[in-house]
Amino acid sequence: MAKLNLENLTKAYSRKIIPVKQINLEVEDGEFLTLLGPSGCGKSTLLRLIAGLEKPTEGEINIGGKAMKNVAPGNRNIAMVFQSYALYPHMTAEENIATALKIRKTSEAEIAERVKDAAKKLELTKDKDCLSCKPGELSGGQRQRVALARALVRKPEVFLLDEPLSNLDALLREQVRGELKQIFKAQNKPVVYVTHDQTEAMTLSDTVVVLYDGTVQQKGHPEQIYQFPENQFVAGFVGSPQMNLLELKCENKFALLGDYQVPLINIDDTKLPSIENKIQWPEYIVLGIRPEEIKETSLEDEQGIQGKITLVEELGREKLVSLQVDGSDIILRALLGKSTQWNIDDTVRFIIPENCIHWFRWDGSGRNEEGQLINPLHQRDRLNKGR
Ligand code: ADP
Ligand code: MG
Repeated sequence: MAKLNLENLTKAYSRKIIPVKQINLEVEDGEFLTLLGPSGCGKSTLLRLIAGLEKPTEGEINIGGKAMKNVAPGNRNIAMVFQSYALYPHMTAEENIATALKIRKTSEAEIAERVKDAAKKLELTKDKDCLSCKPGELSGGQRQRVALARALVRKPEVFLLDEPLSNLDALLREQVRGELKQIFKAQNKPVVYVTHDQTEAMTLSDTVVVLYDGTVQQKGHPEQIYQFPENQFVAGFVGSPQMNLLELKCENKFALLGDYQVPLINIDDTKLPSIENKIQWPEYIVLGIRPEEIKETSLEDEQGIQGKITLVEELGREKLVSLQVDGSDIILRALLGKSTQWNIDDTVRFIIPENCIHWFRWDGSGRNEEGQLINPLHQRDRLNKGR
């Protein structure tokens, strides 16, 4: 049995507000699992349930095979790092790190030893002695390290981290990200890490769980989630710049892309409805293609799709080029090498490699007249063969 086990976990605040819906998850010792999803999808609520700060409406939490139902938060031996750090302002960093140990009546000598050890791992003694400073005297990055040290020092059964890097500036975040991975690997305990930042999720995790509206959309290795998104929500949420997702009309096993016809190949027809054994090809479909998969070609290439460049964005190492497909108002974004000669207003041709296309079920327009999402995108499942 996994070290941390969630069974059918549900939290309802009212009949309408159900931020966590029947979640089943297992996290092993030494596994770094990230809950990834947009703001409001239920990530923090799920962590608070595990920590015992909220009571589940339904379902069970097991840690090390033991049911947590009647175990108070203080007895769960869980270390949680909050987004706000939640440090005591009147205590020094050292006292903050030691608080949980003092409550647990650890000996003075052992406290000193463990604090020193955690402070060293988090480089709190490197530049200046941060340990004797109060949180107000420390930078955001140092405060965040103190909060992490306070979690490490506990030697808990499970680590829970709620967007711990979101208050850091981009440079520091990147640096700490790498260190975090190593530090937690060495602890060999289950880590549940919450973020809305897909780069963080992809770089840190052994396992990514994409959440939307309180339900698991997909669980897997970061690479698997990137290569084989199981529905349109995951496809659009993971990957930067975002995957192009086009709602296209279909005709005779082709999707109509402006003046062009994209063959509906590589589609698993067992996923399509059939009437009297005759497969019903869809009237509309969603074509997904990542910006980095679109290739430049010459104007003479008859295989190429012709379009006009409407925008060129410099990203330093690459250029992000917006292309309007001839005969339509469809705009595609392509990520091209910085040596590309393409400029705004140029007429060009490009290739969408057929084996790179992700097909998703179309279930009606996703937006109403005001442009708000009405159809849950997570029900638009992947139609490709093989996955
Ligand atoms: P996330 O951490 O993914 O941004 P949260 O878990 O904080 O999302 O919140 C999920 C949803 O639950 C939100 O719609 C939020 O308003 C609602 N919610 C959270 N806590 C409470 C509460 N104590 N009472 C009522 N609704 C809540
Ligand atoms: Mg949150």
